[in-house]
Amino acid sequence: MSETTAANIKLIGERLCLDFVNTVDARLRQDAPSYINSYADLLTWGEHAEVISSDTVTSLLQEATQHPNVAAATFAQAVALREAMYRVFYAVVEGIAPQTADLDIINLALGAAMAQTRLIPTADGFIWDWPEHDRALDQMLWPLVRDAAELITSGDLALVRECQSDSGCGWLFVDTSKNHRRRWCSMEECGNKAKVRRFRTRRKDATLTNTPLDRYFAPTAGL
Ligand SMILES: [Zn+2]
Repeated sequence: MSETTAANIKLIGERLCLDFVNTVDARLRQDAPSYINSYADLLTWGEHAEVISSDTVTSLLQEATQHPNVAAATFAQAVALREAMYRVFYAVVEGIAPQTADLDIINLALGAAMAQTRLIPTADGFIWDWPEHDRALDQMLWPLVRDAAELITSGDLALVRECQSDSGCGWLFVDTSKNHRRRWCSMEECGNKAKVRRFRTRRKDATLTNTPLDRYFAPTAGL
């Protein structure tokens, strides 16, 4: 199996903002690794998630080398935003009120993102979007935070779930399945692991259940 990186990490959240939140693996474990560890990683993931094009990545990498402090600040902002989004969606899953400080972080980023939106003429009329931009180092955060705000204010919020794996996965997704009974981030990962564990537990239970029967058989001497 190839190593997981920002360029190939699974996008299973059914929403852009949740895929961004899921760039930390095994969230519930103390040693949870993040796959976005630099500004360059943020660009790599942005291209992987189709938030920005490869041309934009090239432009922004050049821009970042000229403004390393801005790039570092953007990376730090991205991580803070991702964690605030995680805590808000986790609170939703748990049915508790999110922290005001976390909503403040999202609101601040949302304000910056929406200030950049424009009415853009198209062949069919207009769209409300961001014009192509090759200089703004934080531009990949704009669609992420707008998506988070749209999810938070939509009916789909009630369908946000946490992977039920007991291995500390903690990934979040919108359960768009027909019967709304999706339990795992992905069947190949946590779903299969849980199945194997259940199978082992059943076998152990069977062994334990059979144990008392041993009493009815005298041990065979000499073997
Ligand atoms: Zn999982």
